[in-house]
Amino acid sequence: MSGTPPGTPGTWSSRVQAANARLHAEDRWRHPVTFDARGPEGVLTEDGRKVVAFASNDYLGLSTHPSVVRAAHDALDLWGAGSGASRLVTGSRPCHDELEEALAAWKGTDRAVVFPTGFAANLGVLSAFGHAGVRICSDELNHASIIDGARLSRAEVAVYRHGDVDHLETLLRGAAGPTLVVTDVVFSMDGDVAPVIDIADVCRRHGALLVLDEAHDVLGPDLAPHLAHTDVLRVGTLSKTLGSLGGFVAGARPFIDHLENRARSYIFTTAPTPPDAAAALAALRILVSPEGTALRDRLAAHVASVAPGHPSPIIPIVLGDDARAVTASRILRDGGVWVPAIRPPTVAPGTARLRVTVSAAHTEEHIALLLEALASLPPPDRPGPGGAGPPA
Ligand code: PMP
Repeated sequence: MSGTPPGTPGTWSSRVQAANARLHAEDRWRHPVTFDARGPEGVLTEDGRKVVAFASNDYLGLSTHPSVVRAAHDALDLWGAGSGASRLVTGSRPCHDELEEALAAWKGTDRAVVFPTGFAANLGVLSAFGHAGVRICSDELNHASIIDGARLSRAEVAVYRHGDVDHLETLLRGAAGPTLVVTDVVFSMDGDVAPVIDIADVCRRHGALLVLDEAHDVLGPDLAPHLAHTDVLRVGTLSKTLGSLGGFVAGARPFIDHLENRARSYIFTTAPTPPDAAAALAALRILVSPEGTALRDRLAAHVASVAPGHPSPIIPIVLGDDARAVTASRILRDGGVWVPAIRPPTVAPGTARLRVTVSAAHTEEHIALLLEALASLPPPDRPGPGGAGPPA
Protein backbone atom coordinates (compact mmCIF):
# COMPACT_ATOMS: atom_id res chain seq x y z
CA MET A 1 0.00 0.00 0.00
CA SER A 2 1.55 3.30 -0.99
CA GLY A 3 -1.23 5.75 0.02
CA THR A 4 -2.34 8.69 -2.09
CA PRO A 5 -0.31 9.40 -5.28
CA PRO A 6 2.83 11.45 -4.57
CA GLY A 7 2.46 15.18 -4.81
CA THR A 8 -1.38 15.32 -4.56
CA PRO A 9 -1.84 18.62 -2.70
CA GLY A 10 -3.72 18.66 0.61
CA THR A 11 -3.21 14.95 1.32
CA TRP A 12 -1.32 13.35 4.20
CA SER A 13 1.11 11.90 1.72
CA SER A 14 2.05 15.34 0.36
CA ARG A 15 2.34 16.83 3.85
CA VAL A 16 4.64 14.03 5.04
CA GLN A 17 6.78 14.20 1.90
CA ALA A 18 7.16 17.96 2.29
CA ALA A 19 8.13 17.53 5.97
CA ASN A 20 10.72 14.89 5.02
CA ALA A 21 12.10 17.14 2.27
CA ARG A 22 12.50 19.95 4.84
CA LEU A 23 14.50 17.65 7.13
CA HIS A 24 16.78 16.74 4.22
CA ALA A 25 17.22 20.41 3.27
CA GLU A 26 18.10 21.29 6.90
CA ASP A 27 20.69 18.46 7.10
CA ARG A 28 18.56 16.86 9.83
CA TRP A 29 17.57 13.67 8.10
CA ARG A 30 18.36 10.62 10.20
CA HIS A 31 18.15 6.87 9.74
CA PRO A 32 19.54 3.92 11.69
CA VAL A 33 22.97 2.77 10.55
CA THR A 34 23.36 -0.96 11.06
CA PHE A 35 26.43 -1.90 13.06
CA ASP A 36 27.33 -5.58 13.04
CA ALA A 37 29.19 -5.71 16.31
CA ARG A 38 29.64 -7.36 19.68
CA GLY A 39 31.16 -4.56 21.75
CA PRO A 40 32.78 -1.40 20.37
CA GLU A 41 34.47 -2.98 17.33
CA GLY A 42 32.42 -3.99 14.32
CA VAL A 43 31.41 -3.47 10.72
CA LEU A 44 29.05 -0.85 9.28
CA THR A 45 26.91 -2.94 6.98
CA GLU A 46 26.13 -0.09 4.56
CA ASP A 47 29.75 0.21 3.36
CA GLY A 48 31.50 -2.80 4.93
CA ARG A 49 33.81 -0.44 6.83
CA LYS A 50 35.46 -1.67 10.04
CA VAL A 51 35.13 0.90 12.82
CA VAL A 52 35.41 1.36 16.55
CA ALA A 53 32.28 2.97 17.99
CA PHE A 54 32.53 5.77 20.54
CA ALA A 55 28.84 6.49 21.05
CA SER A 56 27.41 3.60 23.05
CA ASN A 57 26.12 3.85 26.62
CA ASP A 58 27.37 0.35 27.48
CA TYR A 59 29.83 2.12 29.79
CA LEU A 60 31.31 -0.93 31.48
CA GLY A 61 31.00 -3.33 28.55
CA LEU A 62 28.67 -5.53 30.62
CA SER A 63 26.36 -6.30 27.67
CA THR A 64 28.91 -8.89 26.51
CA HIS A 65 30.26 -10.05 29.88
CA PRO A 66 30.21 -13.89 29.97
CA SER A 67 28.22 -14.03 33.27
CA VAL A 68 25.64 -11.58 31.92
CA VAL A 69 25.23 -13.49 28.67
CA ARG A 70 24.98 -16.79 30.56
CA ALA A 71 22.32 -15.40 32.90
CA ALA A 72 20.24 -14.30 29.90
CA HIS A 73 20.61 -17.78 28.33
CA ASP A 74 19.59 -19.48 31.57
CA ALA A 75 16.52 -17.25 31.95
CA LEU A 76 15.56 -17.93 28.35
CA ASP A 77 15.71 -21.68 29.02
CA LEU A 78 13.81 -21.40 32.30
CA TRP A 79 11.05 -18.94 31.45
CA GLY A 80 11.08 -18.41 27.68
CA ALA A 81 11.62 -15.36 25.50
CA GLY A 82 8.77 -13.14 26.65
CA SER A 83 6.85 -12.53 29.86
CA GLY A 84 3.52 -12.55 28.03
CA ALA A 85 1.63 -10.03 30.16
CA SER A 86 2.03 -7.01 32.38
CA ARG A 87 3.53 -7.39 35.85
CA LEU A 88 0.12 -7.03 37.51
CA VAL A 89 -1.48 -9.72 35.35
CA THR A 90 0.64 -12.86 34.79
CA GLY A 91 3.96 -11.33 33.64
CA SER A 92 5.90 -11.33 36.95
CA ARG A 93 8.72 -13.88 37.17
CA PRO A 94 11.07 -14.62 40.09
CA CYS A 95 13.89 -12.79 38.23
CA HIS A 96 11.87 -9.54 38.33
CA ASP A 97 11.48 -9.77 42.11
CA GLU A 98 15.15 -10.64 42.61
CA LEU A 99 16.23 -7.79 40.37
CA GLU A 100 14.02 -5.29 42.21
CA GLU A 101 15.40 -6.39 45.57
CA ALA A 102 18.97 -6.06 44.30
CA LEU A 103 18.28 -2.59 42.81
CA ALA A 104 16.76 -1.38 46.11
CA ALA A 105 19.75 -2.72 48.06
CA TRP A 106 22.14 -1.01 45.60
CA LYS A 107 20.40 2.36 45.95
CA GLY A 108 19.83 1.98 49.71
CA THR A 109 16.04 2.33 49.41
CA ASP A 110 13.09 0.28 50.73
CA ARG A 111 11.92 -0.85 47.33
CA ALA A 112 12.45 -0.60 43.56
CA VAL A 113 10.15 -1.27 40.63
CA VAL A 114 11.22 -2.23 37.13
CA PHE A 115 9.81 -0.69 33.93
CA PRO A 116 10.27 -1.84 30.29
CA THR A 117 12.65 1.09 29.61
CA GLY A 118 14.14 4.10 31.36
CA PHE A 119 11.93 6.26 29.14
CA ALA A 120 8.84 4.47 30.50
CA ALA A 121 10.14 4.90 34.07
CA ASN A 122 10.31 8.69 33.68
CA LEU A 123 6.88 8.82 32.04
CA GLY A 124 5.49 6.72 34.90
CA VAL A 125 6.99 8.73 37.75
CA LEU A 126 6.15 12.16 36.42
CA SER A 127 2.61 11.32 35.35
CA ALA A 128 1.88 9.43 38.62
CA PHE A 129 3.09 12.19 40.96
CA GLY A 130 2.59 15.25 38.77
CA HIS A 131 -1.14 15.63 39.15
CA ALA A 132 -3.17 18.83 38.80
CA GLY A 133 -2.15 21.44 41.37
CA VAL A 134 1.49 20.23 41.51
CA ARG A 135 4.31 22.38 40.13
CA ILE A 136 7.08 20.35 38.43
CA CYS A 137 10.40 22.21 38.35
CA SER A 138 12.59 20.77 35.61
CA ASP A 139 16.17 21.59 34.50
CA GLU A 140 16.19 23.06 30.99
CA LEU A 141 18.56 20.34 29.71
CA ASN A 142 16.67 17.35 31.08
CA HIS A 143 16.24 14.26 28.92
CA ALA A 144 13.35 13.99 26.45
CA SER A 145 11.64 11.33 28.60
CA ILE A 146 11.46 13.81 31.49
CA ILE A 147 10.10 16.53 29.23
CA ASP A 148 7.47 14.15 27.86
CA GLY A 149 6.60 12.81 31.33
CA ALA A 150 6.07 16.36 32.59
CA ARG A 151 3.89 17.14 29.55
CA LEU A 152 1.87 13.98 30.12
CA SER A 153 1.21 14.90 33.75
CA ARG A 154 -1.48 17.41 34.57
CA ALA A 155 0.99 19.44 36.59
CA GLU A 156 2.18 22.97 35.89
CA VAL A 157 5.72 22.77 34.47
CA ALA A 158 8.31 25.40 35.42
CA VAL A 159 11.71 25.11 33.72
CA TYR A 160 14.77 26.35 35.60
CA ARG A 161 18.05 27.45 34.07
CA HIS A 162 20.54 24.64 33.67
CA GLY A 163 22.00 23.68 37.07
CA ASP A 164 20.86 27.01 38.60
CA VAL A 165 19.82 26.24 42.18
CA ASP A 166 18.91 29.90 42.93
CA HIS A 167 16.52 29.95 39.99
CA LEU A 168 15.09 26.62 41.13
CA GLU A 169 14.51 28.01 44.61
CA THR A 170 12.70 31.04 43.19
CA LEU A 171 10.35 28.73 41.29
CA LEU A 172 9.75 26.62 44.41
CA ARG A 173 9.01 29.71 46.50
CA GLY A 174 6.43 30.88 43.99
CA ALA A 175 4.46 27.61 44.04
CA ALA A 176 1.01 27.57 45.62
CA GLY A 177 0.76 23.78 46.08
CA PRO A 178 2.96 20.66 46.25
CA THR A 179 6.22 20.72 44.27
CA LEU A 180 8.36 18.16 42.46
CA VAL A 181 11.92 18.79 41.25
CA VAL A 182 13.37 16.65 38.49
CA THR A 183 16.90 16.58 37.12
CA ASP A 184 19.30 14.37 35.21
CA VAL A 185 22.26 13.60 37.49
CA VAL A 186 24.62 13.40 34.50
CA PHE A 187 23.23 15.29 31.50
CA SER A 188 22.98 13.00 28.52
CA MET A 189 24.26 15.34 25.79
CA ASP A 190 26.74 17.44 27.79
CA GLY A 191 28.13 14.94 30.28
CA ASP A 192 28.13 17.52 33.08
CA VAL A 193 26.82 16.82 36.56
CA ALA A 194 23.87 18.45 38.36
CA PRO A 195 24.51 20.06 41.77
CA VAL A 196 22.59 17.20 43.43
CA ILE A 197 23.58 17.96 47.03
CA ASP A 198 22.40 21.59 46.78
CA ILE A 199 19.24 20.57 44.92
CA ALA A 200 18.40 17.99 47.61
CA ASP A 201 18.95 20.63 50.27
CA VAL A 202 16.55 23.04 48.55
CA CYS A 203 13.99 20.24 48.14
CA ARG A 204 14.15 19.41 51.86
CA ARG A 205 13.63 23.05 52.82
CA HIS A 206 10.64 23.42 50.50
CA GLY A 207 9.13 19.96 51.06
CA ALA A 208 9.55 19.16 47.35
CA LEU A 209 9.68 15.59 46.00
CA LEU A 210 13.03 15.11 44.25
CA VAL A 211 13.23 12.88 41.17
CA LEU A 212 16.79 12.05 40.09
CA ASP A 213 17.48 10.49 36.69
CA GLU A 214 20.69 8.56 37.22
CA ALA A 215 20.79 6.95 33.75
CA HIS A 216 24.36 8.09 32.99
CA ASP A 217 25.75 8.26 36.51
CA VAL A 218 28.37 5.55 36.36
CA LEU A 219 31.39 7.34 37.82
CA GLY A 220 29.77 9.51 40.52
CA PRO A 221 29.90 8.89 44.27
CA ASP A 222 27.19 7.04 46.22
CA LEU A 223 24.37 9.59 46.53
CA ALA A 224 22.48 7.82 49.35
CA PRO A 225 24.29 9.61 52.23
CA HIS A 226 23.31 12.98 50.70
CA LEU A 227 19.65 12.06 50.34
CA ALA A 228 18.78 11.22 53.94
CA HIS A 229 15.50 12.82 55.10
CA THR A 230 14.69 13.77 51.50
CA ASP A 231 11.57 12.58 49.67
CA VAL A 232 13.37 11.20 46.65
CA LEU A 233 12.75 8.84 43.76
CA ARG A 234 15.81 7.53 41.98
CA VAL A 235 15.19 6.68 38.33
CA GLY A 236 17.69 4.52 36.51
CA THR A 237 18.03 2.46 33.42
CA LEU A 238 19.12 -1.16 32.94
CA SER A 239 20.16 -0.25 29.40
CA LYS A 240 23.41 1.63 29.87
CA THR A 241 25.77 0.75 32.74
CA LEU A 242 23.94 -2.57 33.27
CA GLY A 243 24.17 -3.51 29.58
CA SER A 244 20.61 -4.87 29.22
CA LEU A 245 17.21 -3.26 28.57
CA GLY A 246 14.72 -1.73 31.00
CA GLY A 247 14.33 1.02 33.57
CA PHE A 248 13.63 1.26 37.28
CA VAL A 249 12.58 3.56 40.07
CA ALA A 250 13.93 3.12 43.61
CA GLY A 251 12.52 4.85 46.69
CA ALA A 252 10.57 4.62 49.92
CA ARG A 253 7.92 1.90 50.11
CA PRO A 254 4.77 4.05 49.89
CA PHE A 255 6.09 5.84 46.79
CA ILE A 256 6.97 2.61 44.97
CA ASP A 257 3.67 1.01 46.04
CA HIS A 258 1.93 4.09 44.62
CA LEU A 259 3.79 3.74 41.30
CA GLU A 260 2.69 0.11 40.98
CA ASN A 261 -0.88 1.32 41.33
CA ARG A 262 -0.75 4.54 39.34
CA ALA A 263 2.05 4.54 36.74
CA ARG A 264 0.34 3.79 33.45
CA SER A 265 3.66 2.99 31.69
CA TYR A 266 4.08 0.19 34.27
CA ILE A 267 0.50 -1.06 34.48
CA PHE A 268 -0.50 -1.10 30.81
CA THR A 269 2.59 -2.65 29.27
CA THR A 270 4.21 -6.07 29.12
CA ALA A 271 6.73 -6.94 31.84
CA PRO A 272 10.41 -6.86 30.83
CA THR A 273 11.51 -10.13 29.25
CA PRO A 274 13.08 -12.70 31.61
CA PRO A 275 16.43 -12.68 29.73
CA ASP A 276 16.62 -8.87 30.00
CA ALA A 277 15.82 -8.90 33.72
CA ALA A 278 18.23 -11.76 34.46
CA ALA A 279 21.01 -10.10 32.44
CA ALA A 280 20.54 -6.84 34.38
CA LEU A 281 20.65 -8.71 37.68
CA ALA A 282 23.89 -10.48 36.73
CA ALA A 283 25.37 -7.14 35.60
CA LEU A 284 24.38 -5.48 38.87
CA ARG A 285 26.09 -8.26 40.85
CA ILE A 286 29.28 -7.56 38.89
CA LEU A 287 28.92 -3.79 39.30
CA VAL A 288 28.85 -4.01 43.12
CA SER A 289 31.77 -6.49 43.25
CA PRO A 290 35.51 -5.72 43.15
CA GLU A 291 35.36 -6.47 39.40
CA GLY A 292 32.84 -3.63 39.03
CA THR A 293 35.17 -1.26 40.88
CA ALA A 294 38.01 -2.26 38.55
CA LEU A 295 35.80 -1.64 35.49
CA ARG A 296 34.81 1.80 36.79
CA ASP A 297 38.49 2.63 37.43
CA ARG A 298 39.33 1.56 33.89
CA LEU A 299 36.52 3.73 32.51
CA ALA A 300 37.72 6.71 34.60
CA ALA A 301 41.24 6.23 33.22
CA HIS A 302 39.90 6.30 29.63
CA VAL A 303 37.95 9.50 30.37
CA ALA A 304 41.12 11.07 31.81
CA SER A 305 43.06 10.18 28.63
CA VAL A 306 40.51 11.85 26.36
CA ALA A 307 39.29 14.76 28.52
CA PRO A 308 41.34 15.24 31.69
CA GLY A 309 39.19 16.42 34.60
CA HIS A 310 35.88 15.68 32.85
CA PRO A 311 33.39 14.05 35.29
CA SER A 312 31.64 11.50 33.06
CA PRO A 313 32.16 9.24 30.04
CA ILE A 314 30.01 11.56 27.87
CA ILE A 315 32.41 13.98 26.20
CA PRO A 316 30.71 16.54 23.94
CA ILE A 317 32.51 18.34 21.12
CA VAL A 318 30.08 21.13 20.30
CA LEU A 319 30.43 22.31 16.69
CA GLY A 320 27.30 24.45 16.37
CA ASP A 321 26.24 24.10 12.79
CA ASP A 322 24.49 20.82 11.80
CA ALA A 323 26.46 20.41 8.55
CA ARG A 324 29.75 20.95 10.39
CA ALA A 325 28.90 18.17 12.84
CA VAL A 326 27.95 15.83 9.99
CA THR A 327 31.24 16.58 8.19
CA ALA A 328 33.29 16.03 11.36
CA SER A 329 31.53 12.71 11.94
CA ARG A 330 32.39 11.66 8.36
CA ILE A 331 36.07 12.58 8.83
CA LEU A 332 36.24 10.47 11.98
CA ARG A 333 34.53 7.59 10.20
CA ASP A 334 37.15 7.76 7.47
CA GLY A 335 39.69 7.34 10.28
CA GLY A 336 37.94 4.20 11.56
CA VAL A 337 36.14 5.94 14.44
CA TRP A 338 32.36 6.04 14.57
CA VAL A 339 30.74 8.95 16.42
CA PRO A 340 27.38 9.93 14.90
CA ALA A 341 26.58 13.66 14.70
CA ILE A 342 23.97 14.75 17.27
CA ARG A 343 21.65 17.41 15.88
CA PRO A 344 18.36 19.11 16.77
CA PRO A 345 15.88 18.09 18.10
CA THR A 346 18.17 15.99 20.33
CA VAL A 347 20.13 19.17 21.16
CA ALA A 348 19.19 22.86 20.82
CA PRO A 349 19.56 24.46 17.35
CA GLY A 350 23.07 25.86 16.86
CA THR A 351 24.63 23.30 19.26
CA ALA A 352 25.07 20.28 16.96
CA ARG A 353 27.89 18.14 18.24
CA LEU A 354 29.89 15.00 18.35
CA ARG A 355 28.91 13.18 21.52
CA VAL A 356 31.90 10.98 22.23
CA THR A 357 31.41 8.28 24.85
CA VAL A 358 34.07 5.98 26.16
CA SER A 359 33.63 2.55 27.74
CA ALA A 360 35.65 0.18 29.88
CA ALA A 361 35.26 -2.16 26.89
CA HIS A 362 37.58 0.08 24.84
CA THR A 363 41.21 -0.96 24.73
CA GLU A 364 44.16 1.42 25.05
CA GLU A 365 44.61 1.01 21.25
CA HIS A 366 41.01 2.12 20.70
CA ILE A 367 41.59 5.25 22.80
CA ALA A 368 44.79 6.01 20.86
CA LEU A 369 42.85 5.64 17.59
CA LEU A 370 40.18 8.06 18.88
CA LEU A 371 42.77 10.67 19.87
CA GLU A 372 44.48 10.36 16.48
CA ALA A 373 41.15 10.72 14.64
CA LEU A 374 40.15 13.77 16.73
CA ALA A 375 43.50 15.37 15.92
CA SER A 376 42.72 14.96 12.19
CA LEU A 377 39.67 17.27 12.42
CA PRO A 378 40.11 20.81 11.02
CA PRO A 379 41.69 22.99 13.78
CA PRO A 380 38.54 24.85 14.92
CA ASP A 381 36.68 21.53 15.28
CA ARG A 382 39.44 19.84 17.22
CA PRO A 383 38.92 19.35 20.95
CA GLY A 384 41.24 21.18 23.34
CA PRO A 385 42.55 24.74 23.71
CA GLY A 386 41.33 26.98 20.87
CA GLY A 387 39.15 24.20 19.51
CA ALA A 388 35.55 23.11 19.97
CA GLY A 389 35.74 21.25 23.28
CA PRO A 390 35.44 19.16 25.34
CA PRO A 391 34.98 21.40 28.33
CA ALA A 392 38.02 21.72 30.57
N1 PMP B 1 17.14 9.26 30.95
C1 PMP B 1 18.25 9.69 30.33
C2 PMP B 1 19.02 10.81 30.95
C3 PMP B 1 18.67 9.09 29.15
O1 PMP B 1 19.75 9.54 28.51
C4 PMP B 1 17.92 8.02 28.60
C5 PMP B 1 18.32 7.31 27.32
N2 PMP B 1 19.13 7.94 26.47
C6 PMP B 1 16.77 7.62 29.28
C7 PMP B 1 16.41 8.25 30.45
C8 PMP B 1 15.92 6.53 28.73
O2 PMP B 1 16.45 5.29 29.08
P1 PMP B 1 16.16 4.01 28.16
O3 PMP B 1 17.13 4.07 27.03
O4 PMP B 1 16.38 2.87 29.10
O5 PMP B 1 14.75 4.14 27.72
